[in-house]
Amino acid sequence: MTQSYQNYIAGEWVAGGSEIENRNPSDVSDIIGLYAQASADQLDQALDQARVAQAEWEATGIEKKYNVLMAIGTEMMARAEELGTLLSREEGKPIAEGKGEVYRAGQFFTYYAAETLRQMGDTADSVRDGIEIDVRREALGVVGIISPWNFPTATASWKIAPALCYGNAVVWKPANATPASAVALTEIIAKQDVPKGLFSLVMGTGSEIGQRLVESPKVDGISFTGSVPVGKGIARAAIENLTKVQMEMGSKNALAVMDDADIDLAVAMSAGGAFGGSGQKCTASSRLIVHANVHDEFVEKLLKATQAMKVGHGQHAGTQIGPVVSQQQLDENLKYVELGKSEGAELACGGQRLDMPTTGFYMSPGVFINTKNDMRINREEMFAPLAAVIKVGSYDEALTTLNDTNFGLTAGIMTNSLARATHFRRNAKAGCVMVNLATAGTDYHVPFGGRGDSSYGPREQGSYAAEFYTVVKTAYISSGTPV
Ligand code: NDP
Repeated sequence: MTQSYQNYIAGEWVAGGSEIENRNPSDVSDIIGLYAQASADQLDQALDQARVAQAEWEATGIEKKYNVLMAIGTEMMARAEELGTLLSREEGKPIAEGKGEVYRAGQFFTYYAAETLRQMGDTADSVRDGIEIDVRREALGVVGIISPWNFPTATASWKIAPALCYGNAVVWKPANATPASAVALTEIIAKQDVPKGLFSLVMGTGSEIGQRLVESPKVDGISFTGSVPVGKGIARAAIENLTKVQMEMGSKNALAVMDDADIDLAVAMSAGGAFGGSGQKCTASSRLIVHANVHDEFVEKLLKATQAMKVGHGQHAGTQIGPVVSQQQLDENLKYVELGKSEGAELACGGQRLDMPTTGFYMSPGVFINTKNDMRINREEMFAPLAAVIKVGSYDEALTTLNDTNFGLTAGIMTNSLARATHFRRNAKAGCVMVNLATAGTDYHVPFGGRGDSSYGPREQGSYAAEFYTVVKTAYISSGTPV
């Protein structure tokens, strides 16, 4: 019999009003489990209890907070193989990527464990005699976290860990496409000795439970990662209650390949950046802007590298590219393939639905050549194993083309020129800039976020996360009547 999994609300595991089925995108006959869908009342109960628990948690000593976060992170790292395999089974990415993601998620918790001990503030003299000023950060309060399916454990962890570190309570709505990873992380958090209801898991659809969460006046902040249209709707709903928001919403990242670059390295960074995670990364290198002097050599080598990538079952050894997450995503991807062709781009390889021994959502990685930056395939986030090559005549044209986008999350350049690399670092309009690296692949101890439609609100990760998860208090302390 298929196992049922419950929500964790106000400190208790509880059944929902209904359940959804979770199937393996590598093999849809593999049912991972049935997952409870929270009711509106359960969400409200989670929010009410979170308010009570938050006050207690904020008053808890920093060493206790350190111990809790460290225990969560340590267990995740120790169980990276097991939980990474589960993640692979429900999301489709190869096991090595799933394991790497869970390990990285554990590192977010251990990093923020250490941050709990770095409670530094500012002091100042008042302009008035006999008065001192102390500026410190306090918790934001109750935080609603809405996370996507493409990095179900890491994205949630880089939100949950700082939220708890800075003294907040969390109500988490994960993506319905990846509930097993959400339950696994919740089970680890639920083992901790923390106030009842400090952390709740409310699985349910975005349009019902997610929407109710962002509209609730019981929430002080919403941290969201997902699509631009949903992000805009969340911002509109949140402003009604003046709820603080932080949003990361994808991109259309470009990697510029200059004529002085190491072409083999450029090909490796392009293929890895474009097709890793089946292209389902907000940091994917989906536009490849290539100098005319090296264009033909680059394209020839890129096509060879792309065709050599092994597409397969996410849990099978040797697989480099797993299936995409769902039938809906596959249909969208194939629509973009047709759109690209209809816009005049040449599909030089891949971009086809693939049949495998098991029924899943497989497609071959595809490369478009002879594309223009104003084509929709170069303007819209496809979230697919698809890359488009744009030929340019100079570094200046490459930079202008790269910056000509509504997004601005990551941007990269492949060059051996220090002058170009330096100019690029200063002039690429993106939140994260890479030199001789793929646009995907970021660290956990430094800020992450973008510009334009990519991000809204304070940065995530590193000590910069405090901007969102805390509020500043300025205290004036008089030492008495001045003598
Ligand atoms: P969504 O933006 O729909 O989903 C992201 C999260 O938001 C999920 O947890 C979802 O819940 C939730 N959600 C959906 N609607 C609402 C709402 N009205 N109020 C509150 N929460 C809501 O993205 P999709 O999963 O549908 O993916 C579509 C496209 O979005 C992708 O193809 C990609 O282009 C982009 N995307 C970008 C990501 C990134 O990392 N930047 C991550 C994911 C998607 P649920 O899914 O359970 O209904």
